[in-house]
Amino acid sequence: MMSYVFSAPAAASVAITGIAERFPVHRIYCVGRNYEEHAKEMGQTGREPPFFFMKPADAVLAADPGQAVDMPYPTLTANLHHEVELVVAIGTGGSNIRAEDAHHYIYGYAVGLDMTRRDLQNDMKKQGRPWCIGKGFEHSAPIGAITPATGLPDVTSADIALLVNGSPRQRSSVSKLIWNIAETIEQLSAAWTLQPGDLIFTGTPEGVGAVVRGDVLHATVDGLEPLKVRIV
Ligand code: MN
Repeated sequence: MMSYVFSAPAAASVAITGIAERFPVHRIYCVGRNYEEHAKEMGQTGREPPFFFMKPADAVLAADPGQAVDMPYPTLTANLHHEVELVVAIGTGGSNIRAEDAHHYIYGYAVGLDMTRRDLQNDMKKQGRPWCIGKGFEHSAPIGAITPATGLPDVTSADIALLVNGSPRQRSSVSKLIWNIAETIEQLSAAWTLQPGDLIFTGTPEGVGAVVRGDVLHATVDGLEPLKVRIV
């Protein structure tokens, strides 16, 4: 039995639909600019190789099925942006996974929000510095319950959408991913050894924008547990 100088923190975890057991989070990988219309609104054009950034595992803000979750408005920003994303939950580890085999490594799927301090991210971009302060802060990864892939209809062409206070902000289809789920797993697993418990935020479609305290975000991917977040 390992002993520590202080209590080790509890593992970050996410609810799973239909069962009491939770999904323990190992790492959070995110794909940048993975829908063409969002790449354009960020000032980019054309297909570029996928690129990745990470959030700490404890950035997870997990909602229970049917329950809203409160996200504290973060420090240092005046431009907190929503990015609704399909999240892939990895159940089997591996490296150098081929796209055609990728589905064997997927435990399930969830709806997530890659919350972003856009003003800080833009400052870092201008200076060629890391995005951590814009992307990797506490509570920056709200996520709904994971639906196991077993028995789930195909999500690769599901509608993805975000309402803020009932008004549509983002709407697209997972079929519009530039790098699809299987290709993303192939690319990611060439750079890192994927582990059970890894989450992959696959990118956001167009329509990103700011939220303020009091806003209620309703994020959906058809077929998955919806995610409701209150900014407090
Ligand atoms: Mn994102």
